[in-house]
Amino acid sequence: MNCSYAAMSSFTIVDTFKAKLEDEWTRTPNCQVRPGCQCLPPFISTASLKQWMDRKERGKSETNGKRVLDEVNAIRWTNFLNSGLVFEGDHSCVLVFSCLLKQDQGRLIYIFRNANILDKNLSDPKLGYNPLRVKLTRHKALHRIDNVEKIINDFEKNRWAFCPAHLDQELLDNIRFGAKLLLPFCTRDLVNDKGGTASVSQVTVPEEYVSLEIKKHLGEPFDFGEYGKVSTIGFLRFVEHFC
Ligand SMILES: [Zn+2]
Repeated sequence: MNCSYAAMSSFTIVDTFKAKLEDEWTRTPNCQVRPGCQCLPPFISTASLKQWMDRKERGKSETNGKRVLDEVNAIRWTNFLNSGLVFEGDHSCVLVFSCLLKQDQGRLIYIFRNANILDKNLSDPKLGYNPLRVKLTRHKALHRIDNVEKIINDFEKNRWAFCPAHLDQELLDNIRFGAKLLLPFCTRDLVNDKGGTASVSQVTVPEEYVSLEIKKHLGEPFDFGEYGKVSTIGFLRFVEHFC
């Protein structure tokens, strides 16, 4: 990086997170079935994101994640709320926190967690927002939370990029383009048009999103530029559902 010291010193750890989210961890798929096709929205390499959150930079006593959490000055209503609740255990919410940081609402993380919006629920299409709505409204006046509905709507829109589908056999058999759950494809192409009934699609998928069961049937993953290590997968699809 060619920043001067003065420029770097005003660059906060939240700024660093947001720059990395956009420049390093966001994967923009390239569908080659139709020129300029945008049937596959961008998704996040959550493994890279989590590694960075867990890392301690040289000379720092706290992890990057903890430093980000300190910087956003999260709303707390009891001293029992601490970073361990966000970053550790079965009820962790690192991805929820990341999604909130993207929409500049990182300070709401404990309210979201308290409303059971957790990483393990993030890809649930039936994720309920009513408890969250009640809690945000309760804290609204004291903590100047503006526009509760916009916060919820933005989160619902943004969350899918943070929980792309893991590819297992069941998903490949029932794959649906245009569904809310995002497919972690870096590239997609048709390799064999069988004339009106079915076609073979070939996709490249980052290693982190391929199940062990599927991996057994694939060749060696290979380095694929900005996408990192990927595997190639082919599968049958009926043409009428193509983009
Ligand atoms: Zn497409």
